[in-house]
Amino acid sequence: MKRVKSTSKTILEFSLIFIFLCVGCIQKEITTPLETNPDFEPAYLKLHRTGELKKRGEELWNMMKSCKLCPRTCGANRLKGEKGFCGATSQLVISSYHPHFGEERPLVGKGGSGAIFFTHCGLKCVFCINWEISQGGAGKQTSIEDLADMMLNLQKLGCHNINLVTPTHYSAHIILAVDIAAGKGLRPPLVYNTCGWERLEILKMLDGIVDIYLPDFKYSDANMAAKYSSGSTGYPEITKEALLEMHRQVGVAKPAKDGLIYKGLMIRHLVMPNNVSGTKEVIKWIAENLPKDTYLNIMSQYRPMYKAFEYPEISRRITRQEYEEAVRDAKELGLTNLDIQGD
Ligand code: SF4
Repeated sequence: MKRVKSTSKTILEFSLIFIFLCVGCIQKEITTPLETNPDFEPAYLKLHRTGELKKRGEELWNMMKSCKLCPRTCGANRLKGEKGFCGATSQLVISSYHPHFGEERPLVGKGGSGAIFFTHCGLKCVFCINWEISQGGAGKQTSIEDLADMMLNLQKLGCHNINLVTPTHYSAHIILAVDIAAGKGLRPPLVYNTCGWERLEILKMLDGIVDIYLPDFKYSDANMAAKYSSGSTGYPEITKEALLEMHRQVGVAKPAKDGLIYKGLMIRHLVMPNNVSGTKEVIKWIAENLPKDTYLNIMSQYRPMYKAFEYPEISRRITRQEYEEAVRDAKELGLTNLDIQGD
């Protein structure tokens, strides 16, 4: 027993020294400006300095008493441990975090996009590629302080941005973590990587915090949204409103001198088989309601996953013809800032 105790003590002391050295190392690194764009200052810094960032985080936190953080507005008392429709309580759960090299090129650069994958999701699509995380609850309970450290670690690893994947139900935790991390030298832009289905009221609270919005525009047809995303009939209309607000806040996404994007709206549209996603209508709406140089990634990578095989119309990949038609429509409708697969 004694020997075990003494070994544990040595390990504990060694771990504390190691943690101390690591923290020292982070502190040293993170005060360095972004390597390829030293003049860049992320939006959240100003609000951090005035104390507004923390205040907004706390306001969002209080909204979890009868949760209205996403358009489900399911009213769960997450602060008392109740699970919402999304599966989340007030306990933060994160699946993983690491430099991600599979995102859009202007987000990846050489150092990668610093992705943090949040567990749970309020949309619950039957074809979700990350269903173990979004609907299966895979992930680890994490504190807000640890989330702040993850952001700082991603910066230290040379990531060009902090990419918050499926952030909506944890917006309070995220803002509070950004506030802590900003105080310790966080500098990369924040990417709000969302399914696009966001409440206007919440987006307004993110004004001046998020640098890059990276929303999906999944469906143009309410019936399709309801069928494949757990009854979310309002998806098309809510997402349109959300996109207009995101554009109002951050404008068109344009690369800086180093080729990376630091600010702006970057929309993703996943082309689905048999026109389930209503691609032409999605593109038409963007062309008619946002500037023609709005960044649009037309995604071809749909593959049937999770429960997709229960729906014959989405149980295959898309054809080359379906993808080419989407690209042709986008060009004919005058969109000029297209991210096209295979280009
Ligand atoms: S974020 Fe979750 S708990 Fe909150 S309203 Fe949406 S589904 Fe309900």
